[in-house]
Amino acid sequence: MSPADEARDLLAQLGVTSSGTLASHSPIDGQQIGSVEEASAAAVAAACDRAQGAFLAWRTVPAPRRGELVRLIGEELRAAKEPLARLVTLEAGKIVQEGLGEVQEMIDICDYAVGLSRQLYGLSISSERASHRMIEQWHPLGPVGVITAFNFPVAVWAWNAALALVCGDPVIWKPSEKTPLCAAAVMALAGRALARFGDAPEGLLQCIQGGRDVGEALVDDPRIALLSATGSTAMGRKVGPRVAQRFGRSLLELGGNNAMIVAPSADLKLAERAILFAAAGTAGQRCTSLRRLIVHESIADGLVSRIRGLFSRISIGDPRESGTLVGPLIDEAAFEGMRRAFPAAERVDAVEGGFYVRPAIVEVDRQEGMVLQETFAPILYILRYKDIGDAIALNNNVVQGLSSAIFTNDLKEAELFQSAAGSDCGIANVNIGTSGAEIGGAFGGEKETGGGRESGSDSWRAYMRRSTNTINYGNDLPLAQGIEFAV
Ligand code: NAD
Repeated sequence: MSPADEARDLLAQLGVTSSGTLASHSPIDGQQIGSVEEASAAAVAAACDRAQGAFLAWRTVPAPRRGELVRLIGEELRAAKEPLARLVTLEAGKIVQEGLGEVQEMIDICDYAVGLSRQLYGLSISSERASHRMIEQWHPLGPVGVITAFNFPVAVWAWNAALALVCGDPVIWKPSEKTPLCAAAVMALAGRALARFGDAPEGLLQCIQGGRDVGEALVDDPRIALLSATGSTAMGRKVGPRVAQRFGRSLLELGGNNAMIVAPSADLKLAERAILFAAAGTAGQRCTSLRRLIVHESIADGLVSRIRGLFSRISIGDPRESGTLVGPLIDEAAFEGMRRAFPAAERVDAVEGGFYVRPAIVEVDRQEGMVLQETFAPILYILRYKDIGDAIALNNNVVQGLSSAIFTNDLKEAELFQSAAGSDCGIANVNIGTSGAEIGGAFGGEKETGGGRESGSDSWRAYMRRSTNTINYGNDLPLAQGIEFAV
């Protein structure tokens, strides 16, 4: 079946009507598979208005009740896992396994947020004054704007929305203009959950479709208390200062240039599998994709030749076919980007109209030029090292700081890599690859990756405001720091 025909069936199944001026093309064959309505600047302002109204109501709904809505969203996602995953495959080009994994990630964060809705804890703090008590409370923050990238067309909304909802915040989503149908489908499923929930305020979950100008309108709206933006560093460099200009909060999840160190003691069988998934998986289009392999010189020749063998045998083609491990790049511009970085990039003739490439291995002597940049395609640069200190320095000597990994069976090396003097990334793994994070941990990276954290651990705090409360239950009014002030 053609992607267009399959999309028609899936959209009907998911309750989405396709019409409007923003066209969606499948990277599988480049053909149009549907369209959505684009939001005007006035529509963005109206959405922010509605979100602000919804905030005033939603912030007073008890958090566990807010969690009930997220539980229902999780149920709808469970029921629609297959068709939604299939739509991710059609619109983003992910293989079926990865499409299913992405929807599972949405379900996982919903489950997590439901539990969190009863655990939005504050601290109790010792006061220096007699008969005084200090506490910290976490209150809803306000409407959250969520801008997302094409490569995780559904999960990143869920990471943000599930937490924002239990934290008491409405959400306005500006999805990638390359994956508008996935967003429409998620909104249809969320709509079903809202209907079952019953009394959620109007404007609690909204979606505004369009490109950069629609994103900019959201970024500049003073009612957006938190702007969570996922995408390229170039985008974050524009968005961050604009939000700061109006003293809004931003949560930036930007590009990565992720490395893996393979030490002489490593279990090479494990390392090879991890390299294959992290470097070639998702056609190198994950923010956590492995881009630099830093191998000890004593094992480099053997390891590199085995990875070359794996890359030459990897099945590239229609991501809907079982057995395919590498689907298409998102579009021609992505292919041109790969060619600029590596002119010998091999285009594979898989499905007419799609841009399919063979994952490439490029051995380099020095970390310079294109090696320092994130090319959003499957290019794996190989660097050799002698000393673990040099390997860690190579890992860190790039402007990005998202994910990193070491394969070693040497405890001292593993600990050093994860220590303050080790990897400077937000994610530092041992004996697993750079990609494929679980939702329980905080996700994000340092430096030009933007510094934001989403998903698990205490990331929820970004979606709330902190209120410090001092309570005097005595009959006197002592001032802090012992200050005397009386007439
Ligand atoms: P992109 O930066 O081109 O677009 C991302 C989103 O930002 C889109 O919705 C786009 O419309 C919007 N946008 C672009 N410029 C804007 C502006 N000036 N103001 C407001 N909105 C704007 O990224 P992409 O090509 O869709 O995705 C790939 C990039 O995303 C890679 O760099 C990848 O590393 C990164 N990414 C990062 C993470 C992470 O968690 N760190 C996750 C996924 C993707």
